[in-house]
Amino acid sequence: MTTVTRFAPSPTGVLHAGNYRTAVFAYLFAKHTGGKFIVRIEDTDKIRSKLEYEMPIFEVLAWLKLTPDRQYRQSEHRPRHRELLEKLIADNTAYISKEVPQAPGDREEVIRFRNPGGTVSFTDVIRGEISTDVTDLGDFIIARSLDEPVFHFAVVVDDADGGVTHVIRGGDHISNTARQMLIQRALGLPVPLYAHLPLILDSSHKKLSKRTGAKALTEYRNEGILPEAMINYIAFLGWNPGDGREYMSRDELIEAFDLARVQKGSAIFDEVKLLSVNQHWMRKLSDENFLANLHTPCPTSAIPLLKDRARSFGEAREMLSGELSFLFTAPDIGSSYLVAKELPGRSGMTKMVLETLSESLKALPESLSADAVKEALMPIANAEEAKGKGGRGAVLWPLRYALSGQERSPDPFTIVSIIGPKESISRIQVALAILKG
Ligand code: GLU
Repeated sequence: MTTVTRFAPSPTGVLHAGNYRTAVFAYLFAKHTGGKFIVRIEDTDKIRSKLEYEMPIFEVLAWLKLTPDRQYRQSEHRPRHRELLEKLIADNTAYISKEVPQAPGDREEVIRFRNPGGTVSFTDVIRGEISTDVTDLGDFIIARSLDEPVFHFAVVVDDADGGVTHVIRGGDHISNTARQMLIQRALGLPVPLYAHLPLILDSSHKKLSKRTGAKALTEYRNEGILPEAMINYIAFLGWNPGDGREYMSRDELIEAFDLARVQKGSAIFDEVKLLSVNQHWMRKLSDENFLANLHTPCPTSAIPLLKDRARSFGEAREMLSGELSFLFTAPDIGSSYLVAKELPGRSGMTKMVLETLSESLKALPESLSADAVKEALMPIANAEEAKGKGGRGAVLWPLRYALSGQERSPDPFTIVSIIGPKESISRIQVALAILKG
């Protein structure tokens, strides 16, 4: 038997990571078992379903490479839904019910399911045995008219017609399952396996929702989260491989994913953790791919610095236009910071060491590693340290400040290796001019 799973979003709002977790799990499980993954847009609610919500769904699925084997809109199956509604009515398992409208726009007629009552049970793959007494549900509505089936009805018909073997969906659908199984039974349809996923909470332990600030995944994409990181992170919302691995590629996830290891307890969506997973995947990129994702000019030599500090490409862009902008433009510097680490009783020292550093830099090639710069300049700092405690800082501080204009910045050797000795010399000359006043 081939596994068939589906992701069945309603295009009635912006989907967040919690919604896409269903897609990720359904996809990984299908591919793990060599099966198929269906995407069904549940657009039976004509008023609330909007194309503007549908389009980003496909954009995100493509971004995460959750490629459907088949995709369709539920509304395309309306004739089939109608056929089976008519069948239920003919069987007297459903009936057209006259209603007293309670509010303007309410129907005078709906189609209700004749609820036989009793207990409906199923074994959830994740949560085990679940039994519901359906008597209290009464004769529930399955369609507003022959052409307007409600969600419970359409889901059951489409899942059966599509050969869905595993209904993997959010835990909030548990309470719908009994109703849906009654419809299934009445139509003589096969019962799929149900796997209701654990709840996802935000960092303040509230249910992840748009209302409490859950973001659209397209926002994370625009902020420079990699799809490798997003799928890795989402896969761990309620699942882990059980062997301590935290970083897994798509292929590794497909290989390892199993519904048997999905936890019952809720999972926490933690943006800080997402950023750290993203940093892992950013660090793995080649220089070429890194620059392609950065979308802003940057010297290749600065990539290690960004890989070290930025957790997203958005952060990297901010650094380049903020605290690291000195990599492109000479900073404004002031004399008091330049001499801040000068040793007592050695006034004029800063000027002297900057001149020495400038001389040494002249001998260096334009392109070189931070280590090579360190090898050339460190002896100057060490010599000052030998003369007096704090001498090393008295050399490296003004150098670093002259180059970056920042109180805190990467070490001076790294900066020289990025901006090059020529530019470094010119910045040191500016510092010397300030000191000469
Ligand atoms: N359309 C439903 C939703 O967006 C999902 C239905 C299902 O997975 O059975 O919540």
